[in-house]
Amino acid sequence: MPSTTFLSSARIAALQQAERERFVVSHPQSLALARATQAHYLFGVPLHWMRDWPSPATLFVREAQDVTLQCADGLQYADFCLGDTGAMFGHSPPPLADAIARQASRGLTCMLPATNAVAVGEGLQRVFGLPFWQMALTASDANRFVLRWARAITRRPQLLVFDGCYHGAVDDTLVDLEPTTGRTLPRPSVLGQVHNHAAFTRVVPFNDLDALEAALAPGDVACLLAEPALTNFGLVPPEPGFWEAARALCRQHGALFVCDETHTISTALGGYARAHSLEPDFLVVGKAVAGGLPSAVYGFTTDMAERMAAAKEAAPEGHSGIGTTLSGNALTLAALEAALGHLHTEASYTHMLALARQLEQGLRERIARAGMPWTVTRLGARMELQFMPGTPRNAQDVREHAQAELEAFTHLFMLNRSVLLTPFHSMMLISPATRTGDVDRLLQVFDELLVVLAV
Ligand code: PMP
Repeated sequence: MPSTTFLSSARIAALQQAERERFVVSHPQSLALARATQAHYLFGVPLHWMRDWPSPATLFVREAQDVTLQCADGLQYADFCLGDTGAMFGHSPPPLADAIARQASRGLTCMLPATNAVAVGEGLQRVFGLPFWQMALTASDANRFVLRWARAITRRPQLLVFDGCYHGAVDDTLVDLEPTTGRTLPRPSVLGQVHNHAAFTRVVPFNDLDALEAALAPGDVACLLAEPALTNFGLVPPEPGFWEAARALCRQHGALFVCDETHTISTALGGYARAHSLEPDFLVVGKAVAGGLPSAVYGFTTDMAERMAAAKEAAPEGHSGIGTTLSGNALTLAALEAALGHLHTEASYTHMLALARQLEQGLRERIARAGMPWTVTRLGARMELQFMPGTPRNAQDVREHAQAELEAFTHLFMLNRSVLLTPFHSMMLISPATRTGDVDRLLQVFDELLVVLAV
């Protein structure tokens, strides 16, 4: 049986060098654009994250439709990254593209609600189950606003998150856990950090009910902000019974439960919380909620709505610190209405889940046949190839098994053979537009990868 020891750093580096050369030869247009954009953008890209792909130069996109992405050199890719979930329902699905085109000539933003606001509110309640809603433009913003509401209505200062969490560019949540002392540490990679996180944010390991209870016990936690499964530190699923107990602990200690479904919306129609009856006080959904047009929503219970209204009315006139000018604009509402009606459907998820199971099974069979100590963890339509022998229980497990070079090699190897995985981790997402042929292509390239690694 092969072991990981033969995958030495030197060997992976040599293999990766060959892939880098292959990319350079086959992407002359992207290379030319990458040179030209240096004159206008930091690192040559409109968002510096766009350089966090393992390719030696940025891959420039000419067009993306369904799950087929075409690069500047005219090469086509089966896209399993799907904009890291923004395009989870496929690139520019026709009902969404039509709705956006129709609204584009009828006013984009007025800082007044459009007449379809009722239809959108009904759609949000139908899909996600909560009665009341507010809008933001990104999931980062939605999380930030919900934290403010939660602290305002509970009059408690503390926030509780799980180690390895990511909830966007939200200062309070960009923290790590010091494993031996349990202290909150500022995340070292965060730039320009000046806040004293340890004073207002507690961090506990995922799947650890004792630590959760200890953090809640002082009675000063406004809310637990959590994804139902960690999706930004590999994919770490909840253990059986974890959420039932965690939810009960929040109630017992008077802390609100804010569920960030931005990624776990892949679980089932309406997300994980709905499928597993987690009964969040607040629910945040961004990225794919309007099919990839910038939009995020947060829903809440009637009880929360009453407490929010009371907090707002009790505050003096002036800035609330919640909201941005373009939130809830007419274009976004048009896109949301189309997305809720045509994309967030049982038919979408039936297709996504069936194909995701097929991909998971195909990967597992190949890993077993090759005797690799690797794992596939799936949550509905998203799954993660993990270079570790078992499913991780928490972020520390993931840190201890990190194989960044092997991961980067896998990415570039697949990209060079027309399959896109999500950078930062090996996530694969299935959309309603993904076809069996796309899954077959990925599995075929995975076979080739296993052969190369076994030589
Ligand atoms: N919540 C979760 C769970 C996320 O994964 C992300 C982004 N990856 C965000 C919030 C923030 O989303 P955005 O970058 O669109 O603000």
